[in-house]
Amino acid sequence: PAGLMWFRRDLRTTDNAALFHALKSCRQLHCAFVFDRAILDGLPRRDRRVEFIRESLVELDAALRQLARADGAGLIVAHAAALQDIPRLARELQVQSVFANHDYEPQAMARDAHVRGELADAGIAFHTFKDQAIFERHELLTQSGKPYAVFTPYKNAWLAKADAFYFKPYPVPAYADALAARPPALRAEVPSLPALGFEPTNLAELKLPTGASGARELLAEFLERIDRYADTRDYPAVKGPSYLGVHLRFGTASIRELAGTAHRLAAAGSAGAAVWLSELIWRDFYFQVLANFPHVADEQGRSHSFKRDYDAIKWDHGKQADALFAAWCEGRTGYPLVDAAMAQINQSGYMHNRLRMVVASFLTKDLGLDWRRGERYFAEHLNDYELASNNGGWQWASSTGCDAQPWFRIFNPVSQSRKFDPEGRFILKYLPQLAGLPVDVLHAPWTANPVELAAAGVTLDQTYPAPIVAHDEARERTLQRYSVVKKNA
Ligand code: FAD
Repeated sequence: PAGLMWFRRDLRTTDNAALFHALKSCRQLHCAFVFDRAILDGLPRRDRRVEFIRESLVELDAALRQLARADGAGLIVAHAAALQDIPRLARELQVQSVFANHDYEPQAMARDAHVRGELADAGIAFHTFKDQAIFERHELLTQSGKPYAVFTPYKNAWLAKADAFYFKPYPVPAYADALAARPPALRAEVPSLPALGFEPTNLAELKLPTGASGARELLAEFLERIDRYADTRDYPAVKGPSYLGVHLRFGTASIRELAGTAHRLAAAGSAGAAVWLSELIWRDFYFQVLANFPHVADEQGRSHSFKRDYDAIKWDHGKQADALFAAWCEGRTGYPLVDAAMAQINQSGYMHNRLRMVVASFLTKDLGLDWRRGERYFAEHLNDYELASNNGGWQWASSTGCDAQPWFRIFNPVSQSRKFDPEGRFILKYLPQLAGLPVDVLHAPWTANPVELAAAGVTLDQTYPAPIVAHDEARERTLQRYSVVKKNA
């Protein structure tokens, strides 16, 4: 039998569930990736994710060629619409089955349902596999058979069930001789960025290696400091986290390898590995929230509060709100930690987890803006944008989510700054114009006295913005705003 492996967000040959099953059950296997216009057309012409995917595909193509015994093997890359391209390719290549890994995003699931129908009409089977999570959908349920909406019991159930079996890699190379030669007409190289209609970004300047080799490099480097993760992860000026998020997003890293490694190191006594594993479990947690509580993000791309009554909260709208939102996006709020964090995402597509919490809280609870505006901004800018985790993270910060920060707990952006960037090293990386300020006022430049400001060459509203909102007043307004849900708190 002949088959077609459809790569999507699993751009690696090692330990790939669908690829393994496809190779094992086919005599001849073709491999394809579709640059889907339905997704690409909505993106800005400079998008680091598109460049990351393209670079990773070049490596995937090379890896497939190397694994294959047949001349002319490699990746077939289409640039049109997956809805039509996959059934068309499957028919042209005369395969009996198409293989892919599960995707839990509502729009992807709708696409897959459509493709499944088209394939079925042509008598072709569509087999899909769990690959991007350790436990998915209904695999972990409470004792009363319900999905989890609280993290800690979910994590306990996850840890109780997870053993070496769930981390075992799929041995792809053992079956690689089923990789087929591509028909000559489909032997093109991976298209260049301009051919895809995109322009280069600053990806090459960022220390963000792409492809499965990039993931390996980051993991090896992180494992040297994983033991310190628990102590360093909250300080954005320190190299604490793994920076593997984007690799998990596009499947250039295997979750089984990462979680299995963390599990093993944690069992051997590494506190850092145990905390990191916990973060990977948050990722599974939010995937299953999306799968089991689909109202949080619908097929039309709209998000809704997990706690439905929180949709009654009245966020600020209108010109003034739009101006505040623009200031947040552009890092002009006058709160240095918030502004430095926004500079980080704007310049690199990455933002440290502590800062994601700080800026999300600031948007919703200091500026009074709808969390969905921030969610969308992150979706457009984060390299590691993951619908489930992003929706979960925003709902955590805005208190609308399951197991979220309680609504009356409001981060003070200045205290957060003093606590997590005590020397202002992170702030100064992105806001060098504040370098001359004494560190105690760096976190709140408007509290500096005229002598300090003059000595540092800082003029509020000229070299650096005055605060666009007073935190204490905003806090009172927020408590008022959330009082519509008080009865449910
Ligand atoms: P590490 O600290 O090394 O963590 C390793 C991995 O664990 C991450 O790559 C990620 O896959 C997972 N992880 C860590 N923290 C979380 C978490 N809280 N929830 C779910 N998974 C987690 N993460 C995304 O992957 N994509 C997003 O779009 C995203 N949006 C977020 C939005 C907000 C408002 C908040 C508060 C958090 C968001 N997160 C998101 C979670 C977290 O901030 C990032 O996963 C993390 O900062 C990525 O950097 P890293 O790979 O260096 O993390």
